[in-house]
Amino acid sequence: MDDGIRSHLPLAGEQIIVTGAGSGIGAATAVLAAAKGAEVAAADIHRESAEAVCGQIAGGGGRAIAVEVDVSDEAQVEAMISRTVQELGGLTGIVNNAGVIVTRPLTETSVEEWDRCLDINARGVFLGCKHAVRHFLDRGIAGSIVNTGSISALTGQHGQAAYAASKGAIVQLTRQIAVEHAAHGIRCNSVGPGSVHSAVLSSFLASQPDPGAAEASLAAQHPVGRIGDAEEVAAANCFLLSREASFITGTNLQVDGGYTAV
Ligand code: NAD
Repeated sequence: MDDGIRSHLPLAGEQIIVTGAGSGIGAATAVLAAAKGAEVAAADIHRESAEAVCGQIAGGGGRAIAVEVDVSDEAQVEAMISRTVQELGGLTGIVNNAGVIVTRPLTETSVEEWDRCLDINARGVFLGCKHAVRHFLDRGIAGSIVNTGSISALTGQHGQAAYAASKGAIVQLTRQIAVEHAAHGIRCNSVGPGSVHSAVLSSFLASQPDPGAAEASLAAQHPVGRIGDAEEVAAANCFLLSREASFITGTNLQVDGGYTAV
């Protein structure tokens, strides 16, 4: 794409990290952010899947680097931010999207399952926010953070004790950061997907006694009568990252086909 046209795109001049960018919502967000003009660090625990997404972005004329990271490891998160700043020339936004689902009734949830879910989902978001904000403060950048919540952050679900707790923590941490750093021009919001076609959803459905019936039942629980697409969540992520959302901070935007409106 011509540089003159690119400079008018909503995310032109931005350098954005997307975690969990190797698949699903993260991959769709990385690709859309690049199409909207951002330079993207596609970060994932699976380097090869992040590299494949970078290849897709390069094929569309965008610029992206693949970063291997375990978001639950503080040293790796710091290294992800340093490498992005070094290779893309800065960092203006982050989408803390990497996550795993544990579907287990409360009484059968082991401490190991609880810790793994909270470590990746909640601690991973905390670390991404902490080190992105440190970078924004050090450089005086009015950065934007988008954290991935869920309908499970706001509603009770069968068999999701650890997952729902991790997502509830994300929504409340988001409000906290928004208030603490509004005076620095830093915005922090969360996006709460409903059921979206992806690997997380496939693993949840596979854990159900009748996956086909579970999928139909899930679709029916969304007033729009269907499961969403990753691109629909990516659109919300990119809007909140952009200057079009300059007066929006501390909000939780549900992208759930009306699920939480019922
Ligand atoms: P996905 O499994 O397709 O993608 C998750 C990505 O995160 C994968 O590429 C995986 O490799 C990566 N990842 C996992 N652990 C990691 C770690 N420790 N460090 C770095 N990367 C790691 O799932 P998705 O549906 O795209 O989910 C993305 C986010 O959306 C998650 O936070 C999930 O909880 C949330 N969400 C999904 C749905 C849904 O229905 N798909 C609904 C609500 C919320």
